[in-house]
Amino acid sequence: MPRTLDPALRRALADRVRYYNELGIYDFYQREPAAQESAVGTIAAGIAPFLAPSTALQSETREEMAARKSAVVAPVADESFEAHASRPEYGITDPIAALKIIREDLGDCTRCKLHKQGRKQIVFGVGNPRADLMFVGEGPGADEDAQGEPFVGRAGQLLNNMIKAMGLQREDVYIANVVKCRPPGNRTPEPDECDTCSPFLMRQIAAIKPKVVVALGATAAKNLLAMNSSLGELRGRFYDFKPAGVRSNDPAWPGARLAVTYHPAYLLRDPRQKGEAWKDLQMVMKYLGLKAQKPDA
Ligand code: SF4
Repeated sequence: MPRTLDPALRRALADRVRYYNELGIYDFYQREPAAQESAVGTIAAGIAPFLAPSTALQSETREEMAARKSAVVAPVADESFEAHASRPEYGITDPIAALKIIREDLGDCTRCKLHKQGRKQIVFGVGNPRADLMFVGEGPGADEDAQGEPFVGRAGQLLNNMIKAMGLQREDVYIANVVKCRPPGNRTPEPDECDTCSPFLMRQIAAIKPKVVVALGATAAKNLLAMNSSLGELRGRFYDFKPAGVRSNDPAWPGARLAVTYHPAYLLRDPRQKGEAWKDLQMVMKYLGLKAQKPDA
């Protein structure tokens, strides 16, 4: 039965761990339970590939997360602190090998309640293990659950078009989610589920060492940044990002820049925001030196 931590204590602990990480200290040891309790203008031509009008939604309520003040500060299970311990992929410089180890460590995961709520399979992540650009979404939907790959439904098609508009192909980037099992009814993953699963995402990011991580939607942004601001407040700038509680296999990796934009499923519901999303992607393209692909090129 997982114990919970006071939200303020959790935030203080996360700040302290981040501080130690910045000092180069990564390995932490878990005390016995009793001891713990004391303790960036719009280019119309460029956005055309993903401006096609759409109506259906994978999830109707994803961006409404932005207003949920409890998303980040809700109680967290002890297991989130697992990520601060030494990991088997540490010292493995090949990201393919490191990702394989992380996947094996995940196994047939039953760490959170999503394992028994109708998932067909774990959706680990897909793409180039040496990608400069990584997209992180919320969790698998029905299509993703069926195919075992993130972003393969209608929202996935829009993400593909967004990637193409950036002058890249889907195979050039890496795509993952905060939770790796489909929440029933495509509901937003709950805080305890995100807290339990996200250490594996952090390890994936540390293994891939991207230059830029793009958080798609409020759930991804809040979990990656551990900030409880609205999506509107989080967009429009870069954040210096190092995956919490883990270390990279390359000590020279300075961390990634993190940008926040709308989840493609939200853009399907409200296509008027595609111009704003394109501004976010342009900021990323400028940083990575990418050129927008003209439609039908
Ligand atoms: S969502 Fe993540 S932590 Fe939960 S059962 Fe699936 S793989 Fe495990």
